[in-house]
Amino acid sequence: MPRDPRFDILFEPVKIGPVTARNRFYQVPHCNGMGRSFPSSMAEMRRVKAEGGWAVVCTEEVEIHPSGDHTPWAGGRLWDDRDIPVLARMCEGIHEFGSLAGVELNHAGQTSANLYSRVPPLAPSDMPVTMREPVQARAMDLEDIRALRHWHRAAALRARRAGADIVYVYVGHQLSTMSHFLSRYRNHRTDAYGGSLENRSRLLREILADTKDAVGDTCAVAIRLAVDELKGPLGFTSDGEGRDLIEMLAEEPDLWDVNISDWSNDSAPSRFAGQGFQDDYVAFVKQVTSKPVVGVGRYTSPDAMVSLIKGGKLDFIGAARPSIADPFLPKKIEEGRVEDIRECIGCNICISGDTSFVPMRCTQNPTMGEEWRSGWHPERIAPKHADETVLIVGAGPAGLECARALGQRGYAVTLADKGAEAGGRLARERRLPGLSEWGRVVDHRTWRIGQMADVALYLESPMTAETIRDFGADHVVLATGARWTADGVGRENPTGIPTEEGATVLTPEDVMAGTRPGGPVLIFDDDHYYMGGAVAEALRQDGCEVTLVTPATEVSCWSHATLEQHRVQARLMELGVRIVTAHNLSRIGRGGAELACIYTGRTQEAECAASVLVTMRRPVGDLYTELAGSLPSLARIGDALAPGTIAAAVHSGHRHARELGAAPADGVPFRRELIELTADWPARRD
Ligand code: ADP
Ligand code: SF4
Repeated sequence: MPRDPRFDILFEPVKIGPVTARNRFYQVPHCNGMGRSFPSSMAEMRRVKAEGGWAVVCTEEVEIHPSGDHTPWAGGRLWDDRDIPVLARMCEGIHEFGSLAGVELNHAGQTSANLYSRVPPLAPSDMPVTMREPVQARAMDLEDIRALRHWHRAAALRARRAGADIVYVYVGHQLSTMSHFLSRYRNHRTDAYGGSLENRSRLLREILADTKDAVGDTCAVAIRLAVDELKGPLGFTSDGEGRDLIEMLAEEPDLWDVNISDWSNDSAPSRFAGQGFQDDYVAFVKQVTSKPVVGVGRYTSPDAMVSLIKGGKLDFIGAARPSIADPFLPKKIEEGRVEDIRECIGCNICISGDTSFVPMRCTQNPTMGEEWRSGWHPERIAPKHADETVLIVGAGPAGLECARALGQRGYAVTLADKGAEAGGRLARERRLPGLSEWGRVVDHRTWRIGQMADVALYLESPMTAETIRDFGADHVVLATGARWTADGVGRENPTGIPTEEGATVLTPEDVMAGTRPGGPVLIFDDDHYYMGGAVAEALRQDGCEVTLVTPATEVSCWSHATLEQHRVQARLMELGVRIVTAHNLSRIGRGGAELACIYTGRTQEAECAASVLVTMRRPVGDLYTELAGSLPSLARIGDALAPGTIAAAVHSGHRHARELGAAPADGVPFRRELIELTADWPARRD
């Protein structure tokens, strides 16, 4: 289909200093858990984005020197010439499709503990590093400042040799030494680099000039700046020093890449912020500079993108998460296939890959991180191996994705679910407070399946072993999911929780189905992700008195990985949920429960009419037990195999679809990035 002419403006080329972007789609720098640790995976992931139509594809932070060492984070590195080949491979892939490669140079100063290099970190003033490590950064003297300028210049030259078209001077997120110098609260200097904004910005101005001098004739030089730190007058604000700085340097860089900090605000999850959440903060920038401006806001709607450009707010539509969820977003708009866009749901599971130092994963895009190691392309898949039929039981995330991908391969697929609505767990969970955008996982797949002549979805169709056998499909896939349990078995209580007869024990599914006990409710969260907090919020919204008990020292503690723990905790506190941390639920009685301190074992009683156990889910496995051995091809996928995240279920469904008809892998089922041993062995000894 031809593209809608309303979107033409998105495909105009835009000049950035000495280079030109072929359209307005700009993949801003983003972490990915691959970086230098999994370099081929990183390079192929970026290459695929260029293929998908992003005119600019950037790296994540690229360290310039051992004194700004981000280990264990797996970012980029340009410490010396030996680091060039990794970035060169990335740039080559990006250039293959006529896109520009951006390299975000960074010296992380006070925000790097230098755990690998063991060099004392550097900062404008003596101060502990920002992470809770027993490490303090030392105040930089003028010699250190000269050295930093030299390292940055050398790294810029290396970035150009690697093939960069855009070289960044990074002042974002309060994660770079230049941003630390800019900061009123971090920079306590009294010399020419401290005090007034003019002085605090001196290092930035010097490094910007150095970078332009080094590579500015052929590379665009960009500044990435957090214009508002959401700290009020203590930090940068869009109507305070954030604006003042942009006014001061308005025409100096070739491009302004603007956002808000810190990272948890810049990558705000959908539970707490919707599309366009940064607009009000960055809208002023274009009024102050004639240079192109890129900003982000988890944009997936082309109409919204057009209005940003036409409204004079941005020149480029910046994206990290939307480009992860759908690397082909620009291509789909260009080809008039807007409905096919796999919209980011704002769950931040991608970030959990980075925070766990493993290749990132994505709930919506199961191929993310698998491009190189498994050879999975986000849009292409091998055709079917034979004219065979597949029956999938269960239309949750796993079943839906499996059906969609098998349909794409050309199989005749029947997808049956006993529910009245597709989505499995998500049919319920998307109605929890703040989780409505997560429903896109279901909507995208039901739409795609709806377009396929050979894939049929049947709702209100409970399947039994007998009806499955009678159906006679060549392959049967059980995607029957999992259910929360009510016996308390879980991490903290592997043998369950003693429960008095007659006590009311509920599961999250009961709460999602609308059960509201007539009295105080105790939630025991031994799961530590979103469910405990979300159920507490739902009950509280309906006026229940709620106590949330967790053996962890904070609520929803795993959601640190998705950058939202502090928001969940704050929301529950503001809603008036009573929070009891570091306690196990040791006994459930009628009208009350016993809580035990995880450190001392000391117990306390809590009054409650019902307990909601968020402990574990058990696979729905009866069909598998009944059918095992009686069918030529039977498999379990998703939560029916092993309950996990929605991302894991989608991935499992996708993997099964890819591998149907293929010989089972022998050994490691993906390509690995192996460490090459150096030649200079044994170690040098004096
Ligand atoms: P996953 O996350 O692995 O996709 P879900 O729990 O979200 O799993 O979805 C499982 C789906 O399977 C649910 O919609 C459920 O109604 C459906 N299901 C379970 N057992 C049957 C069955 N016997 N017949 C039809 N549908 C079933
Ligand atoms: Fe968006 Fe979630 Fe995918 Fe991240 S993991 S890109 S937030 S859908």
